Amino acid sequence: MSSTKPFNYFLIDCNQFYVSCEQVFNPKLKNKPVVVLSNNDGCIVARSKEAKALGIPMGAPAYQYAAIFKAQKVHVLSSNYTLYGDMSQRVMQVLSQFSPDMEEYSIDEAFLKISTSASLETLAKEMKKTVLKWTGIPVSIGVGSTKTLAKVANDIAKKGSGIFVFCDEEQTDRALENLDVEEIWGIGRRLSEALKKDRIENAKAFRDAPDDWIKKRFSVTLLRTAYELRGISCLEWNELPMPRKSITCSRSFGCKITQLEEIEQALASYTATAAEKLREEELLPSFITVFLTTSPFGENAYSNSFTLSLNEPTVYTPSLTLAAKEALRQIFRSGYAYKKVGIIMGGFFPKDNYQPDLFSSNEKQKARHRRAMETIDSINQKFGDSAVLFAAEGLRKPWKMQRGNVSPRYTTSWDELLNIKI
Ligand SMILES: [Mg+2]
Repeated sequence: MSSTKPFNYFLIDCNQFYVSCEQVFNPKLKNKPVVVLSNNDGCIVARSKEAKALGIPMGAPAYQYAAIFKAQKVHVLSSNYTLYGDMSQRVMQVLSQFSPDMEEYSIDEAFLKISTSASLETLAKEMKKTVLKWTGIPVSIGVGSTKTLAKVANDIAKKGSGIFVFCDEEQTDRALENLDVEEIWGIGRRLSEALKKDRIENAKAFRDAPDDWIKKRFSVTLLRTAYELRGISCLEWNELPMPRKSITCSRSFGCKITQLEEIEQALASYTATAAEKLREEELLPSFITVFLTTSPFGENAYSNSFTLSLNEPTVYTPSLTLAAKEALRQIFRSGYAYKKVGIIMGGFFPKDNYQPDLFSSNEKQKARHRRAMETIDSINQKFGDSAVLFAAEGLRKPWKMQRGNVSPRYTTSWDELLNIKI
């Protein structure tokens, strides 16, 4: 075995997040079957363990289960995204105390990159205890040397004691052998069927498949997933599989920022990135949450978030940018040195399922917006990210992470792989 790894990823995922948020403020709901419904009470978007045990599926239209709700005394709640957005930020605040290197992935999940010689398990226990104590939200924590391994660990944690740490090769092999390829993060039904035809049934077999074969038969993207399972970290934010309930885009600023205008530009940029990803996935968000924080340390600390329900779900970047700016203005206070701004979009409708309000903005205009976004996305795909920017993102970008001394992207860019001469 090689020497200790330089760092580990902790994936912290809130258990039944929307339901847990409701239970914090209404303890009567604890240990009861509870479901939360999407906007307009359409579909089931969250279930307590007890509701899950009754066989109520995620995403199902609520009316189909009305009889079961009644017979089984299921508590049925409308979604309260303002509450969930705020609770999410409280959880993130607590987590940010454990590492300066945090990546918020969705409304209820975050990766912490941590380098420590202390026991990873003890640290995970401490995190779990602290989040529960300070916010009332139970979490599951998975730890591994890459994000994909942390995700696998988290799935195992959820089925067991709430914490799982990958610690040695034998244990990792066993865990991956017990994991169906379909369960690997980013490998859906279609890919797993193809893999199974080639007798790759579990995650270990996939991890150990030859590079050339994976690349030729499938794609470079899938090869990266195999690398991640081997413990070689190579996925950046925009390459992570799309979360199911919400998407978060946020970075720490390269330096402290005090001006509203500069924060607005960073926010516009994250909004554009998240919107592009949603267009790619053909999802429409029904709410946005904007959050803004200073460093949690020191006396002059401030943190706040604001959630806006969108009148009509949309992925038109200019509309989302306007909404994001409006939310930001609600929480911005002058006199603070800000460290981070971010946006969460969630409450998704699949593009084809959404029934537009007959009296909402006219169809012709929406078709024009759609074409504009398609054009921008195709230019950016062809010429690299951000070939076309929205003016709101600004050109100078003083908030960008300082990357002057960045080493080559050995593991994430095929043009920058390490050359080894033999
Ligand atoms: Mg969760």
